[in-house]
Amino acid sequence: MSGFINPYTFIPVYEGQKEKYQNYFAQPLMTGKICCTLTTRTQIAVCDEVGKRDYDFFKVNGKAVIMGSSLRGTIRSIYEALTDSCLSSTNAEDDDYFSSRLNKSDPGLIELTKNGYVLYSAKRYKDENNTQLGSYQTGDYVGFTDYSHPDSTILYFYLKETASRKGYVHKTDRFRSRIKGRPVENKDSIFEKNTQIARLSEKSISLLEENLKKYETKNKNIAQKYCEQLERMKQGRGVLPVWYYRKGQNYYFAPSQMSRAVFYRQPVDFLEDLHLNPCNTADYICEACAMFGIVRQTEKKSGSFAKASRIRFSDAVCEDTGCFDQKFTLPILASPRLSSFEFYLKSDGNQYCADDQTAAIAGRKYYWHHNDNSRKINTDAPNKAGNNMDARAELVKPESTFQFEVYFDKIPETVLKKLLFALTLGENTVKSRYCHKIGHGKPIGLGSAKITVDAVKVRTFDQDGYQDKNYDWNPKTLRDVFRNQKNVDNVLRVTNFNAVPGKDIQYPTTNPNGGGDIFKWFAQNRDGLRNIGKSMKYYYKLPSLNDADQHLPFNPNLRNSGGSSVPSGSGRGGGSPAPSSFGNGNSFGAGNFRMKEKKKKDKK
Ligand SMILES: [Zn+2]
Repeated sequence: MSGFINPYTFIPVYEGQKEKYQNYFAQPLMTGKICCTLTTRTQIAVCDEVGKRDYDFFKVNGKAVIMGSSLRGTIRSIYEALTDSCLSSTNAEDDDYFSSRLNKSDPGLIELTKNGYVLYSAKRYKDENNTQLGSYQTGDYVGFTDYSHPDSTILYFYLKETASRKGYVHKTDRFRSRIKGRPVENKDSIFEKNTQIARLSEKSISLLEENLKKYETKNKNIAQKYCEQLERMKQGRGVLPVWYYRKGQNYYFAPSQMSRAVFYRQPVDFLEDLHLNPCNTADYICEACAMFGIVRQTEKKSGSFAKASRIRFSDAVCEDTGCFDQKFTLPILASPRLSSFEFYLKSDGNQYCADDQTAAIAGRKYYWHHNDNSRKINTDAPNKAGNNMDARAELVKPESTFQFEVYFDKIPETVLKKLLFALTLGENTVKSRYCHKIGHGKPIGLGSAKITVDAVKVRTFDQDGYQDKNYDWNPKTLRDVFRNQKNVDNVLRVTNFNAVPGKDIQYPTTNPNGGGDIFKWFAQNRDGLRNIGKSMKYYYKLPSLNDADQHLPFNPNLRNSGGSSVPSGSGRGGGSPAPSSFGNGNSFGAGNFRMKEKKKKDKK
């Protein structure tokens, strides 16, 4: 079909494996080194300094160098995927949340009592002409009388301080929404307290606070005053008007009806359920952490601890100083996610709710190889004004070779075999189709490289000292050492240089010629909020890793796509058993990205 292929996909995850640390190191253990060659398949960018707009390739004495830490990161992430190890590089901490737009059904009032937080149902009265509450703030306790119009259930108020009837002011952002095609202005309200309906958990209040951080208002003052009232309420000095929706035991709160809700299940919860959360206790850790080491400084229960790495990477050096290409302007050097919180949810339907039983994380993020990147980066276009994602970078040419060593220290033979597989991906030839992605610019096709092993030396000790002996190994049988063969298949799928047509890879865009606004595509991919309590619908999800066709359409909201243009297993209605919830996950991601970007700027 026509369309585009998203630059990244997800390697499915299975239940994580964590063991007692000592269990990984049964005798006999092996020590030695692996001599490797890295041959670039596409141009690569390994920048000498992060944070500026004009990058040189990292060099030592004029020679191109790929830092050992960079190689290590690449190999470790593959090793993690192969061994059901933890997602060590995610920063899924306690303050990450999923959220989605959710239409909330009921007005309510939250109050702190001696029994904790309590929710009251409320009756809402609107200010018909939006003229009465100019000098009042959310939470003010006021007198009023009510009225309504014939044939309408909507209640309105007249402000009357002397009236015996009392209620709480709720001021809203005056953004204009559309109902049946007509622009409608949000109305200020009075919430009249009704009966107590629930005691609330601290968590539900903290989710409301989290939601307020994401609250998008045109009028900053309205949002700020709302937050101030929340603070007063938390000190027992006032009542907070809210809109809420209840599902099971969970209450979702927001300042307005048609707005975001923050889910109870956090990213870290999803990882913990699968035992894939970054290892955080010293004696029960995953295989990758046991071999590659771990330093965890945490304020959580377990405190800080460290395990030394038993696998060390030297820098990779290219002896040919003619390897450099000229500098190129990269359309997008950074991926939209700068943070390492890089996973999203999948769900059974075309909606997503992190608190649904069926929701699960999509997997480990990985970039496709571009087997044709000529279209994108062979022109040295001038930096476009206003596009702050643009950067110039010095690249190293395809077919350049780098030498490096991997040192291993007291590891079992099975781990050595797994490491050799992670390096060679089971084919120890330069022409192999199974390649790694390394360095910067992965989304635009940079960084494909083949690692081949030239020699494996194992050190043996005897009375006279030590000897380095060649270790015999067979690339073809290496994969047999993995417990979960599905992981091997998935890794080989995603590292296959020809897995997808590279010319079609680009970030989601509504513009077939590329360069469109990524957020526009996600906006078009959303359906309206129709039903109370249902999270937003999405037309298209990211195809699953093993779907034959990975394309997505440029116009996701065109109703009649003629069948053939709907990607298999990723279309509407959820044909695939567990499709990723692309739209939602990414709209969350994109929003988060903006926020983090902004934070960065603020710091400067
Ligand atoms: Zn781990």
